[in-house]
Amino acid sequence: MSSSPSAGSGQRRGLLFIVSAPSGAGKTTLVERLVEQSPRLKMSRSYTSRAAREGETDGVDYNFVSRPHFEAMIAASQFLEWADVFGNLYGTCATDTETLLDAGQDVVLVIDVQGARKVRQRGIETTAIFVMPPSFDVLEQRLRGRSKDSEADIQRRLRMARDEVASFVEYDYVVVNDELTAAVDRLRGIVIAERARLNRMRGEAAGIVRTFA
Ligand code: 5GP
Repeated sequence: MSSSPSAGSGQRRGLLFIVSAPSGAGKTTLVERLVEQSPRLKMSRSYTSRAAREGETDGVDYNFVSRPHFEAMIAASQFLEWADVFGNLYGTCATDTETLLDAGQDVVLVIDVQGARKVRQRGIETTAIFVMPPSFDVLEQRLRGRSKDSEADIQRRLRMARDEVASFVEYDYVVVNDELTAAVDRLRGIVIAERARLNRMRGEAAGIVRTFA
């Protein structure tokens, strides 16, 4: 994948955002709201080897594939990044992302801390946002409130969360998900600010300057 900021056609190449958060921090709802409120921003649909949960639809929430299928995709280098999370495989398809970015769409990857590291290691230009719950207690309450996870599952997610939250220092921005609307507004603020950076506005601004000639 190219890290070039502009597409060959002269159209601005899309920006790549990463959102990571511990399980239960509410990132999916946050990012769904963000995408609804942000024209030209799309959420990438990951592949996973885990089974669909009740209420999840193949091709909507994830592309659900078998483990051998996922492993074949790894062998064929089809992933921009992939990771083993809770014993299941999750990955971002490189060509899906590339197609969106080339079309000038901004894309948000909702991926775990390991996946974010892999994207960064590839030297790809991204804006990475870490979403945190306001406290450990609030995270625990939210995980229990979902009531779809077993006690063992909740304990495992809480242990994982302890490690994950410490990774916030690797990100460009931190958003505390204390209140949904306010947290979505802060995410939108980040997207808007990133789009207004000089290197992304240079072409359009130069065009405006030419109208002054
Ligand atoms: P869940 O099974 O609860 O939907 O997701 C579990 C974890 O996998 C979450 O932290 C989620 O962000 C992460 N995840 C989902 N898709 C991807 C992906 O494509 N790549 C990586 N690295 N993590 C992912």
